[in-house]
Amino acid sequence: MNNYFFYDDKECEFIPVEYRTSEKVIYTLSLWILCGTVISALSISILAFTVGSPAEIALKAENRALYEQLEETRQTIVKLDHKMSEIANTDNELYRTVLGIDPISEDERQAGVGGADMHAEFDVYSANASDILRWTASNLESIERRINIQEVSFEEIKAHYNENKELMQNIPAIRPLNGIILSGYGMRRHPVLGYQRMHEGVDFRARIGTPIHATGDGVIKSTRRRGTYGLMVVIDHGHGYESRYAHLSRIEDGLSPGDKVKRGQLIAKSGNSGVTSGPHLHYEVRRNGRSVDPLNYMFADLTPDEYIEYQRIADSNPYSMD
Ligand SMILES: [Zn+2]
Repeated sequence: MNNYFFYDDKECEFIPVEYRTSEKVIYTLSLWILCGTVISALSISILAFTVGSPAEIALKAENRALYEQLEETRQTIVKLDHKMSEIANTDNELYRTVLGIDPISEDERQAGVGGADMHAEFDVYSANASDILRWTASNLESIERRINIQEVSFEEIKAHYNENKELMQNIPAIRPLNGIILSGYGMRRHPVLGYQRMHEGVDFRARIGTPIHATGDGVIKSTRRRGTYGLMVVIDHGHGYESRYAHLSRIEDGLSPGDKVKRGQLIAKSGNSGVTSGPHLHYEVRRNGRSVDPLNYMFADLTPDEYIEYQRIADSNPYSMD
């Protein structure tokens, strides 16, 4: 504090400035307050710049939560979209094909989706947000449209079914037994012979003696042993349809060729006769002399979900039980 001087022009010399104690205290205090204020202001500015004001922090948190919610919605939409595709597939391959109605093409199911940008209102948001919102809105519209088309299709199927009840009663359209599928229709490795060959039916898990039911109305065509099929029942359903039940252990008492059977009627007990890798039921559906995938005809018995699940199991096993 002694380093300050003032110039005395009468005496022509520098005189050291003398401060009173109270002045010194006020001076020091002012200096500290000034420094403190500057440092606080600087810190707050830096903090606000890097972290944000409390209001901004709250907004950012809300924004993050909204983004997370949108992402969850997006995943749900993807799942729904996948589900709709599976149902559309079942609709085409199962119901419509079996009933002889033309399948609905993917283009028809997607009709009206896309085209002019219907969601320009999202342009006011950031590019990222507007992309997600636009995607969400247009995919929801797509799903809605496909559900509507599916509803129309189911109505058409119902009408067709009612018009063709007699045929519908004859088509082998239920499961021959209450059990799960082990192997599906198509090229499969033979469990005993070891090489790939056409598996012309589906194999159901069945302990020896499991009740087997006729899958549609018809007439018994044969009830005898036939080579690798073992003991087998063949039912003629008319309209070009035939069903076969192989590897049986016994035929129901009194049942013989020429007898009429109703859908669901007990016809035999499963077994392990013929060439197999274990007890099971081998079930075939033939149309105009050629084998078809029996799963595609079980529309009277399976929900779309069950059909998809059966198809998945049937497709995943490279072996047949034969
Ligand atoms: Zn088989």
